Formats: sequence, structure tokens, C-alpha cells
Amino acid sequence: MAKIRIGNGYDIHRLVAGRSLILGGVKIEHELGLLGHSDADVLTHAIMDAMLGALSLGDIGHYFPPTDPQWAGADSLVLLKQVYQLIRERGWQIENIDSVVVAERPKLKPHIEKMRDRLSDVLELKPDQVGIKATTNEKLDSVGREEGIAAYAVALLVASD
Ligand code: MG
Repeated sequence: MAKIRIGNGYDIHRLVAGRSLILGGVKIEHELGLLGHSDADVLTHAIMDAMLGALSLGDIGHYFPPTDPQWAGADSLVLLKQVYQLIRERGWQIENIDSVVVAERPKLKPHIEKMRDRLSDVLELKPDQVGIKATTNEKLDSVGREEGIAAYAVALLVASD
């Protein structure tokens, strides 16, 4: 049986005025955007943590600390590429990723295909290996009050050889 590893990731960022909303590398028109040191792409961050978690390599805060000015405003797809290279160097590739974005607004369905294209491109996968689902929080709690957007992801890795 092939050597396999699984990891999960979670992230949440605050929604504020005057910031761009970027999810899965796609800029989405909205009156609010996510606050963070990088571009605050919460979906890409959850996916990176799932990939790192699968190999017990820590979390993205360890590799891209928010205290490091180098990562201010960083394109999270660039960070994702670095995490991908890290797992490739260790002899692993991704079998598939699945994820959920929890956002009350805006409607994400029209953007999901583009997000899958962007992420699969960086990770050298087919789009059907990158699952992205969107749900609301049914107006409950902070995400339901549109104070933030959260994302969950799992990644299944398989040994390259
Ligand atoms: Mg984050």
C-alpha cells in the first residue's frame, strides 16, 4: 500500500473596510476585505496548514511569521508554492485537497471554479483534485455577523516514489 498522510487546516480572518477580498488566489468584488499581514487569503492559508500538518511540519506562522516585514501584503499563492516545494523536497505529492469556506456574504459559488484553477495550477494538480465548498454560518456567531470569513481544509499526501 502506498504511503499516505493526511492533514487538516483551519484559518479565520476579520472582514474590514478598505481591504481586498482574496480567496483561493481570486480577487472578489465586495465592500469588505480580509485583514491580515499578508493578503489574508484565508482559504489558501487553511490549505497550507493542512499540507504542513500532514507531515507534522508545524504551521504557516512558523514559516511566514506575521512579525516579518518580508511577508507584508504577500500574495498567498507565492507562500503556497513554497509550502508545496517543501513537501515535494521531502518526497511527497498531493493526492487531493478538500476545503470549505464559511462566509455569510458575498456569494462564492460564481468564483469557485476560478479558485480551483488557481490553486491546482500552483500545486500541479488537476482542478478535480482540489475541492472547494462554500457555506454560510446561518447568521450565527462572528462569521454569521459578517465580522470574518473562516476556512477549513484537509490534504491527503502520497509518497512520490
Ligand atoms: Mg491566515
